[in-house]
Amino acid sequence: PQFLLCFNQQSTTARTSSKRVDTMCCCSAVAAYLSRELPYELSTGDVFLTAGCNHAIEIMMAVLASPGANVLVPRPGYPMYEARAALCGLEFRRFDLLPEKEWEVDLDGVEALADENTVAMVIVNPNNPCGCVYSYDHLAKIAETARKLGIMVISDEVYDHCAFGSKPFVPMGVLGEIAPVVTIGGISKRWMVPGWRLGWIAATDPKGVLRDKNVLQSIMSYCAISVDAVTFVQGALPQILANTDKAFFEKAMEVMREAAEICYRKVEGIECITCPHKPEGSMFVMVKLDLSCLDGIADDVDFCTKVAREESVVICPGSGLGMKNWLRITFAVDPGLLEDGMERVKSFCQRHGKAKELK
Ligand SMILES: *Cc1c(COP(=O)(O)O)cnc(C)c1O
Repeated sequence: PQFLLCFNQQSTTARTSSKRVDTMCCCSAVAAYLSRELPYELSTGDVFLTAGCNHAIEIMMAVLASPGANVLVPRPGYPMYEARAALCGLEFRRFDLLPEKEWEVDLDGVEALADENTVAMVIVNPNNPCGCVYSYDHLAKIAETARKLGIMVISDEVYDHCAFGSKPFVPMGVLGEIAPVVTIGGISKRWMVPGWRLGWIAATDPKGVLRDKNVLQSIMSYCAISVDAVTFVQGALPQILANTDKAFFEKAMEVMREAAEICYRKVEGIECITCPHKPEGSMFVMVKLDLSCLDGIADDVDFCTKVAREESVVICPGSGLGMKNWLRITFAVDPGLLEDGMERVKSFCQRHGKAKELK
């Protein structure tokens, strides 16, 4: 590839300065990529490169940690937020996502949890673990709530455009005028390259609140004492973002739509689990485990342990995501394997079903 060639042509002395230039050109590539869907233009200075989206989470939690501060995180959620907050002494409080409302944010709950020390709320859209996609109207309500509380929204959009249901993906940044938004993302999911470790933090904040409050300065300072994004992936990033064939994304969404359909249909055929909302984005679905129709299964962790042991199927117990006796099923699997896996879960449930169900 071209970028390797141009690395080879550099003299040793030129390398340090040209790395800086590459990083700048990567930031502007990310700014251009995100700006395509925003009503305003991001600049290079609004974007920070990270070694993947998890690194972006680490940086944001560290930057927000100050004595007494707290951050609001979704339940069920992506556990990295709580882990990173805990590690840097930032208090976290969980607000609910509502299964009966397509996993929308319980905004009354958010208001009840927040106090004068709340600095931010986190949303994940499209959502891991719930598989939901938030509508523009719901995002607008989130922005209004954040404005009312005087907090920023951290929007985890690592699944940007991974929406295959009726709702299109809308970036939270379109509402940045209402409340300051920090958008975090990366290439690991949309491009299916989790090992390449390239992500970003973008201040999607047209009013410049984050700049004025020195949040951007803090992010920059933290980046200076943290690992860099992989340099040769940086070299490729502008091309990755600008030139990936549309057909690649369309094909991927087709595959995910089909997998979600298979998964949903199979769940419907299993008595002890129910799905409150058909997945329409990301690669996951949350389903509720009904222990009353199972014999000798203590809870979700017990269920997942035994399914793994007896059927070689790995399911994530909801307890790990803040929701006991729920399960997170990943459907980013080859359709044949997915059908087979779900059949195994079904036979597990039948084998462990209460006697009356076996008649
Ligand atoms: C996978 C994932 C990440 C981490 O992405 P990387 O770029 O691989 O670090 C962050 N947030 C959510 C919600 C994820 O599912």
